[in-house]
Amino acid sequence: MLFAVRRLLFIILILAASGLLSAAPAIAWQEGSQTPEQVPAPPQTPPTPPQQAPPAQNPAPPAAPVHTGPVIVINPAHGGTDEGARTDNGLVEKNVVLIFARMLRSEFERQGFRVVMTRNDDSNPSYEDRAAVANAYRDAIFISLHISSTGQTGTARTYSYQFSNPVVTVTAAPAAGAENAARESAVAASKGLVTWEEAQRPYMVSSHRLADVLQSALAQKFAGSPPTATRFAVRELRSVAAPAIAVEVSSMSGADSNSLLAMGASMTGTVERSIQALRPVGSQPASAPDTAGTK
Ligand SMILES: [Zn+2]
Repeated sequence: MLFAVRRLLFIILILAASGLLSAAPAIAWQEGSQTPEQVPAPPQTPPTPPQQAPPAQNPAPPAAPVHTGPVIVINPAHGGTDEGARTDNGLVEKNVVLIFARMLRSEFERQGFRVVMTRNDDSNPSYEDRAAVANAYRDAIFISLHISSTGQTGTARTYSYQFSNPVVTVTAAPAAGAENAARESAVAASKGLVTWEEAQRPYMVSSHRLADVLQSALAQKFAGSPPTATRFAVRELRSVAAPAIAVEVSSMSGADSNSLLAMGASMTGTVERSIQALRPVGSQPASAPDTAGTK
């Protein structure tokens, strides 16, 4: 008899335990984890097209690559009362570079990049405000767009910033010389201590490399373009704390809107592919200054 009671109790315990167990997954689900029984059926995903599929007419493809790489900051130069170069037939650089910028934005967005523009109207932000757009991100690439007033039509040049003075640091320059000072400058930049005027300095190597890669591609695309990039004190690049380049298409002189648009379309594709080649979609964000380690 006693044995039967124990057995009954044992069975009740088993039933109670199994009841608790069956309630457990519901609790777990509330907390966000899923048991196999309760995993909802995966959404019906359409077969993904190959990565190299030609871009669709629709500017917002549903299957854009997942992107964790740099934010592309596009700077249409000039704006507002600063019109830049002007053609004989009334086209002004500030408007054409804005069109180029929008073309470039579409090109990058098609490839899954996040894109920000320093202006998207006829405003004229200060150099600092333009740089600040890029400096708000930990991992950005700044691309400034110009059209030259003169020069061989159908060519393109890439610039990266060249400081006139070899080394300036926010702290007193050490007696040990330029190398130490450069290192201190980079360290100061990594700590966010660098002045706006010096913001580009720690990124010069990256900027030069980017400019060279792009110019090499542009030279193939646009015959007559210089084979290498130009180092120059392009003011809007100086305060950018990220790899920064300026691309200048030639030229407004004697150009009509059709030839400029065709040039812009060729240029944007080349820029996008060059950056993609350096920084593939899906790459991990860089930790920033060149001193942090480069490829
Ligand atoms: Zn310009």
